[in-house]
Amino acid sequence: MIKINEHYHKLQASYLFANINKRVREFQAAHPERELVWLGIGDVTQPLPNACITAFHKAVDELADARTFRGYGPEQGYAFLREAIAKGDFAARGADIQPDEIFVSDGAKCDVGNIQELFASDIRVAISDPVYPVYVDTNVMAGRTGEARDGRYPGLTYLDCTPENGYAPQLPDGPVDLIYLCSPNNPTGATLSREQLQAWVDYARENRALILFDAAYEAFIRDDSLVHSIYEIPGAQDVAIEFRSFSKTAGFTGVRCAYAVVPKRCMAYTAAGAPVSVRDLWTRRHTTKFNGVSYPVQRAAEAVYSAEGQREVRTLIDYYLRNAAYVREALQRMGLACVGGDNSPYIWVQSDRDSWAFFDYLLNEAGVVCTPGAGFGRCGEHHIRISAFNSFENIQKAMQRIADVLQA
Ligand code: PLP
Repeated sequence: MIKINEHYHKLQASYLFANINKRVREFQAAHPERELVWLGIGDVTQPLPNACITAFHKAVDELADARTFRGYGPEQGYAFLREAIAKGDFAARGADIQPDEIFVSDGAKCDVGNIQELFASDIRVAISDPVYPVYVDTNVMAGRTGEARDGRYPGLTYLDCTPENGYAPQLPDGPVDLIYLCSPNNPTGATLSREQLQAWVDYARENRALILFDAAYEAFIRDDSLVHSIYEIPGAQDVAIEFRSFSKTAGFTGVRCAYAVVPKRCMAYTAAGAPVSVRDLWTRRHTTKFNGVSYPVQRAAEAVYSAEGQREVRTLIDYYLRNAAYVREALQRMGLACVGGDNSPYIWVQSDRDSWAFFDYLLNEAGVVCTPGAGFGRCGEHHIRISAFNSFENIQKAMQRIADVLQA
């Protein structure tokens, strides 16, 4: 008899986006004349930078010619892209990351989901609440969490991110082995300071723990006091893996390209306490289960690092940051407390209302779709997430509508 992985039955059904869509469908059926503004999902709306499109086309043409055709590429990514990443994203910031520590993939979602396979099933895992759900669910599937009780898994250590602590995960009371950090954060838009990251790196070094640093929104950082990479923090190369993505940086959500950095100095331990190179384990895993990102996509990603690509990417991100600043300032003028929106495309809005009630209110009264914070964890209650991924015109329209109903 073929048996299932019973841990899948411990997953809590993710009703978040299904529930949002259901409520929106019902609203539209009842009010077909009302036009909605979507500020809910975290998907980009602007087209790819010109430099990427040109490189993409050229690479496709190469595949059409027997002299320049390419079949399977290296699983870890072509050298041209790994070298461009090492130089453009790390050396430029004083972080010594070598191309052979970079693993190109088809998405940060897969990378942050797959990485936990390398570690034992009895490690203690710390995650922030609210959280990008992939961190939790992949550990549930792997059998590390136990059954959920009142919406939380007893096997996880939750790091509550609340208005009181500025939405920053605090060091845990008890020891943990694997720590998921995301900065700039999805969903809160909050960022971790240099000092806060240094405290986590020190903690990981003292406890022989490992940090999984999700920097998918790194390109939105404009504050010079913030680091763009965890490897700008002394000692991080021994205890941290970093995840980056071209999705939000260059509009690649549909194109698919990302990378993970696993430094050679990064160690995990056998049951007997002997150190093992995490990079060697990930190389084995990656080459066994993954066959590389397509050549044209890697050429398009490489173009992000050209002078033209850098200019265009900055313009693209500036467009969303202008939206985000507009949202944050408009909400603050309405008297709502919020974080994010300055180094992030997300604005995390606090409210006295239940988060689904606030969602319904904005949908029904203002015709604006946001995301209820409760969908990201217990600490998301009394919050909503507003995404700046839309046109500036729609952002202005949505803020005017919200102001009208809240101040009526
Ligand atoms: N990490 C975070 C925090 C995200 O919000 C997202 C996407 O929304 C991802 C990773 C996934 O990125 P990718 O498109 O590269 O799979």
